[in-house]
Amino acid sequence: MRLSRYFLPVLKETPSEAQIVSHRLMLRAGMIKQASAGIYSWLPLGFKVLRKLENIVHEEQMRVGHIPMLMPTLQSADLWRESGRYDDYGEEMLRITDRQGRDMLYGPTNEEMITDIFRAHVGSYKDLPLTLYHIQWKFRDEMRPRFGVMRGREFYMKDGYNFDLTKEDALHAYNRHLVSYLRTYERMGLQAIPMRADSGPIGGDDTHEFLVLAETGESEVFYDSEITDLKFGDRQVDPNSVEACRAVLDEFTSRYARTDETHDEALFNEIPEERRRVARGIEVGQIFYFGTKYSEAMGAKVQGPDGKPVPVHMGSHGIGVSRLVGAIIEASHDDKGIIWPEGVTPFHAGIVNLKQGDPEADGACESIYQALLALGLDPLYDDRNERAGGKFATMDLIGLPWRITVGPRGLKNGVVELTSRRTGESEELPPEAAIERLAQIYAPYRGSLVG
Ligand code: ATP
Ligand code: MG
Repeated sequence: MRLSRYFLPVLKETPSEAQIVSHRLMLRAGMIKQASAGIYSWLPLGFKVLRKLENIVHEEQMRVGHIPMLMPTLQSADLWRESGRYDDYGEEMLRITDRQGRDMLYGPTNEEMITDIFRAHVGSYKDLPLTLYHIQWKFRDEMRPRFGVMRGREFYMKDGYNFDLTKEDALHAYNRHLVSYLRTYERMGLQAIPMRADSGPIGGDDTHEFLVLAETGESEVFYDSEITDLKFGDRQVDPNSVEACRAVLDEFTSRYARTDETHDEALFNEIPEERRRVARGIEVGQIFYFGTKYSEAMGAKVQGPDGKPVPVHMGSHGIGVSRLVGAIIEASHDDKGIIWPEGVTPFHAGIVNLKQGDPEADGACESIYQALLALGLDPLYDDRNERAGGKFATMDLIGLPWRITVGPRGLKNGVVELTSRRTGESEELPPEAAIERLAQIYAPYRGSLVG
C-alpha cells in the first residue's frame, strides 16, 4: 500500500476523552472512530489488525477440530425465555421490538441459539463429540463503556460451544479449548495466564479466565510468579488425546493464579513470599464447563448407547477478539506509539523515502516495494511529500515492527537502513539484503501473511 493513496487519519493531538494508552494510540493512529458510546467504526488500519486476530483465532480453532459457522446478531426473545435468561440477564441486554411487535434482542452471547440448532439436528450420541463456534459481533449495554474497544458495548467475540455425551468428554473439550487458547494468544505475541475464575450468570463448575497482565487491566489478580515462566511454544499437542490435553491443563494450572473473585488468601500465603504477586490483568478469554444447564432447560437430548435419551454436556468458550487489539497495545508500546508483534502487524514493514521526487530514491523505494510484494509481504510505502521527521513519527506511531529507510546519501554507498521498532536499532545494508532479512523474519508467519 502506498501511504499517499491510503486512508490513515492520524491525529496530532492526544484525544482528551481517552484514559488509557491503548485507547489513545488507537485514536491517534487512525485505527478507530467512536460512533456512539462504546460503539466504534474500525478504520482501515484497525480493521486490518482485527482481521489478523480473527484469522489466527480461526486457524487455531480449526487446528483442534472445532467447526466454524455463523449465527445472526439479532435473536428471538422466545429462545431466551426457554432458558430463563430473558428475565435474568437484566439491563445489559439490548431489547428490540420489530414491526410485528415481536420481542427481539441483540445477542450478548449464543448459548440458547446454538442449543436450539443442536436440538433441531442432532439426535444420537454417535454424532458426538461436536464443537461449533462463530466469530460475531455481540452487544452488551455495559453500564460504563470505557477504554475504547476494551470495554465496548458492541464488540467482536469468538464463542464456541461443545456438545458431549458425558461429563468426562466435556471436560476433555474444556482442556482442548485451553490448549488452543494458549497457542492462540502466543501467536498474537501475548502471554495470557489461565486463572481460576467465578462462573457468574452463565453458571457452571469449571471455568478459567485468560488474563494479560497490564497496569490498566480491570481485574485484580493474584499469582505465583513461576506461572509466568510457562510457555506453550510450538509444541504439538494431539487435540484428540485426553492425556495430552489434560497434561497441558495440569501444567498451566499448577501454580496459584486467581482473579479477585476466587482469590483465597490462605492458599496464596502458602506461596513463598518472594513469588507472590498482586497485579492487574485484562480478561481476553474465558472457558466454561456448565454441564446440562441449557440442554435440560431446552430439551437438547441425544439417544445414548442404551437407547435412552440423555441431555448433552456442554461448555462455552469465548475470546474477546476486538478487546485483544487494545490488550496487545497495552502490552506492547512505548512513548512514541504502538509496537506490533510480527504475528498481528497491519503491515509487515514501512518504507520511508527520505527524498520524495529524487529519481534515485524514488526508484530504489519502488523496487524494494515491488520486491516485498512479490514475496507475499505487505509493505506500507510512505511516498508522501513530507519531511523525514513527520514520516518517522507516523511510522513509530502506527507501530510497524520493521522500517526500511531510503535516502540519496545511503544509496550513494549502495545501502538502505533497516530499523527495528522494538529495539530502535538500525543496520545499514544493501537493499537486497534488507529484503532478504524481512523474508526470513516473516517466514514463521507464512499462512497468515495477507490481511
Ligand atoms: P467482563 O468480565 O470483562 O465483563 P465477561 O466475563 O462478561 O467479561 P465473557 O462472557 O466471558 O465476558 O466474554 C468472552 C470475552 O469477550 C471476554 O473474555 C472478553 O475478552 C470479551 N468481552 C466481554 N465483554 C466485553 C466488552 N464489553 N467489550 C469488549 N470485549 C468484551
Ligand atoms: Mg468472562
